[in-house]
Amino acid sequence: MKITLAKHAGHCFGVKAAMQKAFATVRDEQQPIYTLGPIIHNRQVVEKLEKEGVRAVKNLSEIEKGVIIIRSHGVSPEVIAQAEARGLKVIDATCPFVQRAHKLARQLVDEGFELVILGDARHPEIEGILGTVQGAALVVTQAGEVENLPKKNRFGLIAQTTQSLENLQQVASALLTRTNEFKVVNTICNATTHLQRATRELARKVDLMLVVGGRNSANTTRLAVICRETGVTCYHIETADEIQPEWARNAGHVGVTAGTSTPEWVIVDVMEYLRSI
Ligand code: SF4
Repeated sequence: MKITLAKHAGHCFGVKAAMQKAFATVRDEQQPIYTLGPIIHNRQVVEKLEKEGVRAVKNLSEIEKGVIIIRSHGVSPEVIAQAEARGLKVIDATCPFVQRAHKLARQLVDEGFELVILGDARHPEIEGILGTVQGAALVVTQAGEVENLPKKNRFGLIAQTTQSLENLQQVASALLTRTNEFKVVNTICNATTHLQRATRELARKVDLMLVVGGRNSANTTRLAVICRETGVTCYHIETADEIQPEWARNAGHVGVTAGTSTPEWVIVDVMEYLRSI
């Protein structure tokens, strides 16, 4: 059985930077350390950080004092202001690609465009962007949701950093018919684009794809969707223990890819397990 790891797989630069900041904070700070939500959407990494004393909380109200690390997804400016008002030390690990999306969303609203964001309204990245524009945006997940929108003079469109370019193109085409003036800014990050392209290319060549990463990770889940769109059999797993040897029984060639929140050691475990069967 041939096993191929996608050319781009695993931690992106934004996640690596956030992890480095988290471990540096553990090294340098004597106060309690928290993250607002899991630092990345990967259970194994969160458990590792917990052992180092970093606790993930849902609300700032759960923290009396200490350091709060803002994860790569970012938060709304209001959350940072609230943390500072509570006397917490804020370590901002928001990915620069997400910061760029916040800035562009604000610009489009300030320029008078009706803002549309392509993404998942419940995802923390989108919640943060919505906070930045005080909720003045419509969030959609696909072209069908904009086809019947009332016509507006000016529409502006941005996307969650982990969206696929194809989906953005489809929503952009649909919105174009609803307005006189239209501005679209591609806010999908390079890491996502490379990862999705490498995954699609590999999925077209193999008999079976394994997508490795948190089930709560938007970008990992999207990789599984991309694989299935090619028609290949695909399983989304979090760790090597979930692999069932019979999956690979009739597969001459197995491809492996991993979301940006998946740490290298988890990918290595999967590769080693596959080699062992
Ligand atoms: S996927 Fe892109 S936007 Fe998200 S953390 Fe990684 S580099 Fe940043």
